[in-house]
Amino acid sequence: MQAKVKAASTVQAHITALAGQCVKCGLCLPHCPTYRLAGTEAESPRGRIAFAQALAERHLGATPSVLEHLDNCLACMACERVCPSQVKYGELIATTRAWLRDTGAAPRGALSLGGLLAHPRLLGTLLRMANLPGPRRILQSRVMRALLRPFGTDRAVAELPRLPRIEVQPSRAPEPPRARVGLFLGCVAASVDRDVHAAARTLLQALDYAVVLPSAQGCCGALALHNGDAAQAARLGETLRSLFGGAGVDAVLVSASGCFGTLRDHVFADSPVRVREIHEFLDADAHIGTLKFRPLAERIALHTPCTQRNVACADGAIARLLARIPQLQIEALHAPPGCCGAAGDYFLHHPETADALRAQTLDSALATQAQSLVTSNVGCRIFLANGLRERTAGIPVMHPVVLLARQLEN
Ligand code: SF4
Ligand code: SF4
Repeated sequence: MQAKVKAASTVQAHITALAGQCVKCGLCLPHCPTYRLAGTEAESPRGRIAFAQALAERHLGATPSVLEHLDNCLACMACERVCPSQVKYGELIATTRAWLRDTGAAPRGALSLGGLLAHPRLLGTLLRMANLPGPRRILQSRVMRALLRPFGTDRAVAELPRLPRIEVQPSRAPEPPRARVGLFLGCVAASVDRDVHAAARTLLQALDYAVVLPSAQGCCGALALHNGDAAQAARLGETLRSLFGGAGVDAVLVSASGCFGTLRDHVFADSPVRVREIHEFLDADAHIGTLKFRPLAERIALHTPCTQRNVACADGAIARLLARIPQLQIEALHAPPGCCGAAGDYFLHHPETADALRAQTLDSALATQAQSLVTSNVGCRIFLANGLRERTAGIPVMHPVVLLARQLEN
């Protein structure tokens, strides 16, 4: 008991120290999607930092309203990127959420995907079954959604991801390879991004890498961390360290920007295994100029996920890689809201905010009059594709790596 109290007070001191770095300048406010929507201090980074500090110092009780403002944060990290005082906002909000959860102040979400995400094969089987034409029609019918509403699962069913067709030509494994790299498959992405993983393999093998894909990888733990479940995140991380640590790879490559930060900063932070964002890796490869791409006379809208811009910091690499496709017109989105609203499983629990951010992102994408939308995170791809389908037919949403592999000359 004594140890538990001491541990809690140490965590509170850590939260206070992190919050103390904030000089309350407010420079982060215009970059925060929830502040831009609500226009209130309580929905801003500065407001959330003040709440976390007041809670840790026991000047404030964990009222439903305070918890809601903390919970409304998308963890997009736009505030951390622009902060001149280098406040570690990501660490602050994750620590605060975990502390509130451990002390029983914050309730666990009604719908927890945590257990399922640790078992990608089971998740894949369920997604395949749900995507059969008959079951999908029934699941997404009005009647079924009304029946599921009391259990809080109607939103998950409405936003069910579609499974991709794999249209990328496989390339031959190099003999001998230049190096061995591992490819992180993820949980939802292991099914929904199968086209991305096939495309990544094609490109990497064309650059003479041996690509290792350990099975039963599971989730990176981002969702668990986001929801303050540090124990679940630690269990998932242990599995990944053991799988990739024994695979003899020079680096683990990540094609979903939402998973990249968790893998780099938590799972492999103290490991000799290096984590690389796939676009940054391909762009920096000395042999990338040897790949030839077929021309594509199309205009694409390039959406940059918040995690790509604020955590992976590899948005420049994506644009440079796509510019290697002759005749391709790349249009960046004008004034998107900074986060599309997907934000892990945020879209399930905060439908109003998520839908407002998605609508703004799609407005911005459609204004480019592009023939397709390109985005590099699995969650954004699912959420934006579902939103686009409701507004207009025939605009595919794809990952940059898929577009590159499709245009690769054999
Ligand atoms: S988090 Fe940084 S940018 Fe935002 S108010 Fe505090 S010091 Fe200023
Ligand atoms: S992480 Fe994003 S949503 Fe959360 S406070 Fe910072 S800018 Fe706002």
